Amino acid sequence: MAKEELECSFCGRKKPETNLLIAGLDAHICDRCIEQAHGIVIEESKQAGNTELSAELMLKKPKEIKSFLDEYIIGQEYSKRVMSVAVYNHYKRLLQPASDDDIEIQKSNIIMVGQTGTGKTLMAKTIARMLNVPLAIVDATVLTEAGYVGEDVESILTRLLQAADYNLEKAERGIVFIDEIDKIARKSDNPSITRDVSGEGVQQALLKLLEGTTVNVPPKGGRKHPDQKFIEVNTEHILFIAGGAFDGIEKRITKRLNMQAIGYSSIKVDNIDSDNLLQYIIPKDLKDFGLIPEIIGRLPVLTHMDPLDADTLRAILTEPKNAIIKQYKKLFEMDDVEFTITDGALDYIVEKAIEYKLGARGLRSLCEEILTDAMFNLPGSDETKLNVTKSYAENRLNKSTLKKLKAVS
Ligand code: ADP
Repeated sequence: MAKEELECSFCGRKKPETNLLIAGLDAHICDRCIEQAHGIVIEESKQAGNTELSAELMLKKPKEIKSFLDEYIIGQEYSKRVMSVAVYNHYKRLLQPASDDDIEIQKSNIIMVGQTGTGKTLMAKTIARMLNVPLAIVDATVLTEAGYVGEDVESILTRLLQAADYNLEKAERGIVFIDEIDKIARKSDNPSITRDVSGEGVQQALLKLLEGTTVNVPPKGGRKHPDQKFIEVNTEHILFIAGGAFDGIEKRITKRLNMQAIGYSSIKVDNIDSDNLLQYIIPKDLKDFGLIPEIIGRLPVLTHMDPLDADTLRAILTEPKNAIIKQYKKLFEMDDVEFTITDGALDYIVEKAIEYKLGARGLRSLCEEILTDAMFNLPGSDETKLNVTKSYAENRLNKSTLKKLKAVS
């Protein structure tokens, strides 16, 4: 065939009429047909509602989700099971085909109650990592009712959009972790306080977001401004996970359990594990703490985090896929230094983290304090080995350093 006779096998345009003509085995395709075909592919995948993401998600059953969480999170067995089911149901809801049986699966937004540093944020991060969806972590304390100084609740979605690189479709399937939800509890039961700007008002504002609605979001954040273009974000398929320490809620739980013990109850006061009272938490305790019933209703999955004991802290240091000690090993390896640490040193770190009530969060700061000198001195030196023993750790963590750590905890 002479060159000028080449034509697109799809639309018949001659080569000179096209910008580009790509040759296949026995056929050719022009740029316009490629674009059209591409458009069809996108439309088809949208209509099917089965984007790649959904197909991938469907493959993970609750037990598989839990196994993934196990790789990163030590302990917290109960919470990991609850989260696995909630996440599974959430994405099943997402994939639910439109049907005529009127059964609509409700959202499984989650609320996690647990002391600081027990892994609430880690849980949300790990789930987002597993699902490969964007995650926005927001602090409830900065949120205020519209019209007050602070951030509107819509700013949560701005963050999510940013986490999704402004890909709206991705953002609309993302996860929002609202930390410190307990800090927006109603401050007082006193009915004479008619306006509670920082607490109840914010809870009210959050309601519609949690439930599923379309919100006009200023893409760059900040206050709504008449000239700013908005992005419409639908929160229907966004999974909201709220977390909080709910300091003092144990007292309410104990009180309730004691009351129940007086009446008829399956829980006997003698059998109560007083070291982990959060395991008995029920939605009513959240209400008594100051969350409004509507918020509790929209966070229907309630779970608790267990306090971290010495064994768990010890495991956190070395076992998770990206355990702190593994990270240091890698850092030293990059300078051709073989890093080892003795059991005695690890136990010592755990002991100090407990003694100074630093929790898991403290493990990292303690390791930094112990290893900073070595990380400064060894690169570029002739040393090829570093073995951290208990006495090495003790020496590095002199009293003044510990005081400093305690002050920031
Ligand atoms: P929270 O959100 O409950 O305050 P984080 O999730 O921020 O706590 O935990 C702080 C750090 O402690 C995390 O970066 C993680 O390394 C570690 N950590 C806490 N709990 C666990 C756990 N159960 N398993 C593994 N690491 C944990």
